[in-house]
Order: sequence, then structure tokens, then C-alpha cells
Amino acid sequence: MFNFTNHIFLCVFSLFTFASNITYAHQISSDDYSVFTNPTNEPSKSIGSYANGCIQGALALPDDLHYKLVYPSRNRYWGHGITIDFIKNLSRDIYSTEGNGLLIGDLSQPRGGPMTWGHKSHQTGLDVDIYFAKKPQDELSDNDLIKLALISLLDKKQENINQDIWSKYYSNLLQRVSDDANVSRVFVNPIIKNQLCLDNKGDRSWLGKIRPWGGHYEHFHVRLKCDKNSEECIEQHSVPTGDGCGKELDNWLEKGLKVYSSNKKPVIPKELFLHNHPISCMALFDDLN
Ligand SMILES: [Zn+2]
Repeated sequence: MFNFTNHIFLCVFSLFTFASNITYAHQISSDDYSVFTNPTNEPSKSIGSYANGCIQGALALPDDLHYKLVYPSRNRYWGHGITIDFIKNLSRDIYSTEGNGLLIGDLSQPRGGPMTWGHKSHQTGLDVDIYFAKKPQDELSDNDLIKLALISLLDKKQENINQDIWSKYYSNLLQRVSDDANVSRVFVNPIIKNQLCLDNKGDRSWLGKIRPWGGHYEHFHVRLKCDKNSEECIEQHSVPTGDGCGKELDNWLEKGLKVYSSNKKPVIPKELFLHNHPISCMALFDDLN
């Protein structure tokens, strides 16, 4: 359990690190953050890094005609205002150009921070998972909605794109996401990135933000940039220049074929401990005392 008095005590003896306006505390665990059911009531600010941070004043993703949350009961539909606006604008655009809405997965917990399972990042309200499957026209049961969301774009062996499903739609969708100035990067399976590289012969500038990563064959992960009012938000380095379709992707494809065919996913311990957690995040625990 998190104990604020103990925490202060530990901080006194811990090494304080100063970098980009941020002071780091000692240690925090995913169990500490899992007690929160609501955000703090203040302006949205992301604090720390995507995999070691928190969010004050997170906003809930409201219900909307153009998208649907697949797992509302997880209470991971909280994000920075720019993330909420991004989802609303993207889904409205896709609805008007492609004729369908989007299925939305996890954003962050009410106050961000590490989760007991499922993600290492998603801690600052700036990450969101979006499924490749289109939002159905009809209301589905929770189970049927989950089944739909989990449809993979890869074949059964996870070695190639499932060409029975693949269409220009996915390229259009990912290009619209990548073209958004607030988007830092988008994670997709290396096989999907490869298909995008093969398909797009004209303007390939947007492909640079599409980053190959493990998994991510039924959803893609959008990471937004820090907003200017979040002084303690730590930006990830910019993506390398170019379309990312060359050697780097080849390396991933070699590695990816081994990783994905064995169905082994990265093991995330149930209780995730983070060292050097931003000390400003500790203010989010004040109302527990
Ligand atoms: Zn994600």
C-alpha cells in the first residue's frame, strides 16, 4: 500500500534527479494507482514520461455516435484534453470520409500511472489504443463487441497480412492519424508497417511516424505529443527521418516472425514497481490522506 509519510521519508534519502524541470521521487507501484476511481479536479496536465508518469485533471472520453469504447468497465477511458479531442476529431473525420466509426480501447486510468496489467505506457493520458475493426452499425453484446475488436489483420500463422481483410481503408485511417500534428508516433505490427510500405508509392512522408512494434495486429497505439502547458511532461525523442521502410523494418520483420509465431507476449508483473517516479505525481494522492 502507498503510504505518504513513508514516501516522504524515502524521498529524503533517495537520489533526487533534476532534468527538464522534473524532480523524481523514490518508488511507486501499480497497486497505488489502482485505488483511484476518479481524476483530480484541475486542468489537464501530463507529468513525467509515457511509461513513468501520471496525469492530473484527466477527462473522461464521453459517449459519441462516431466511436465506442470496447472495455468501459476497465475504467481506462481517461486522458488529457488533447487526447479526448484527438479521438473525437479523428472518428468524426473517418465517419464522414469512410462511413464508419471507430472502436476505442484503453486510454489511461483516472490519474494515469502504472497499471496492474496490460500496458507499460498509457501513464500520462497521452496514449490510446484504437482497434482496426470498424464500429458496427448495430448494438452488439459486450462479448460480440470484444470478439469483433480482436480480429487480427494478420493470417493465422501471424506471418503475413490477411489479404482477405486488408484494404485501402487501413492505410487511409493510419495516414489520417499520422498527419495529425499532435501525434508523436503510431505503433503497429511490423507486418502491417511492411504492407503500408508496399502499398504507398506516392507520398510516403507520413510513414515515418508509423512505428513497428510487437503485437498491435488488432489495434494500433497512438501516442500524442506533450502539450505546451504540461511543463513536466517528458517528450519521447522524435522519430528518425525517412519513411522507416528500410533496414530498421527488415530487422523487425526477422525478429517479429520469431516473436509472434510463438504467441509469447511480454510478461508484465502483476504489481509494477517504478523507481524515480515524478514527485509532482505525489500530489495526486493528497485526497487519500
Ligand atoms: Zn497501447
